[in-house]
Amino acid sequence: MKATIEKIENLSPRVKRFVLSLERMVVFESGQFVVLTATVDGVELQRSYSIASIESGSPVSHLELCISLNNLGKVTPWLFQQCEGAMLDISEPQGGFVLRPTTAEVDVVFVCTGTGVAPFRSMIQSCLTLNPNRKVHLVFGNRTEADVLYHEQWQELAKTTTQFFYHPVISRPDANLDPSFFKHGYVHEVYKPLIQENPNTHVYVCGWEVMCTEARQQLKGMGLTRRQYFFEQYDG
Ligand SMILES: Cc1cc2nc3c(=O)[nH]c(=O)nc-3n(C[C@H](O)[C@H](O)[C@H](O)COP(=O)(O)OP(=O)(O)OC[C@H]3O[C@@H](n4cnc5c(N)ncnc54)[C@H](O)[C@@H]3O)c2cc1C
Repeated sequence: MKATIEKIENLSPRVKRFVLSLERMVVFESGQFVVLTATVDGVELQRSYSIASIESGSPVSHLELCISLNNLGKVTPWLFQQCEGAMLDISEPQGGFVLRPTTAEVDVVFVCTGTGVAPFRSMIQSCLTLNPNRKVHLVFGNRTEADVLYHEQWQELAKTTTQFFYHPVISRPDANLDPSFFKHGYVHEVYKPLIQENPNTHVYVCGWEVMCTEARQQLKGMGLTRRQYFFEQYDG
């Protein structure tokens, strides 16, 4: 399907938000992605990108993606040179990293780093709407404060929604980091006590290989079953 880049905005020093206007309306489920086909130096390449738009349940004419520049990569340097008005080729929304049905007692912990937060924008909203009584946590790891995507929106959601808890984690903080708000370290040290508090929890993990591999080991080691944790690995 053809999609026109309607808007490009900086979300952080390395991440841009691309708003795509679609040639036809599509329906997507929170957590799904699209596959972008790009011809770079005469070679056709495909890359997947999570849908960062909030799901409404109805067909949509626009999709939002948030994409991190990889200087050594092939497609993202090309994509970051595109301008508003350029045409892209994308697939229909697809993928099985979507919310699993649960009972009200099940808390949900979303764990991500960097652009791994993209599918959680929609999944968290859907999760809160489906069951307004359960606790929903976002454990969001980044190197520095400047890398945190949608930070104000998460803060606002935590302020206005009593059962949503935002846990930003910074691995390489500068001297001015507010330790009462940002945790210093890695996501694993932050989600483990949340799960210990209520072992009847579902955990969704999204991001790059190193974090996902470690999280898989940690969750298994904590005795969670495969029906309790779900992964979307970005380099898989
Ligand atoms: C389901 C899914 C959803 C995803 N969603 C998102 C998303 O929402 N946002 C996002 O930013 N990404 C997302 N990704 C990742 C995305 O698909 C791409 O993998 C990413 O954008 C890198 O693409 P690229 O073509 O720029 O890099 P690639 O060309 O694929 O290169 C990847 C890596 O290979 C190495 N490499 C490549 N060429 C060289 C070289 N010449 N020398 C040394 N090393 C090299 C580099 O380490 C580089 O980091 C997702 C992936 C999946 C599977």
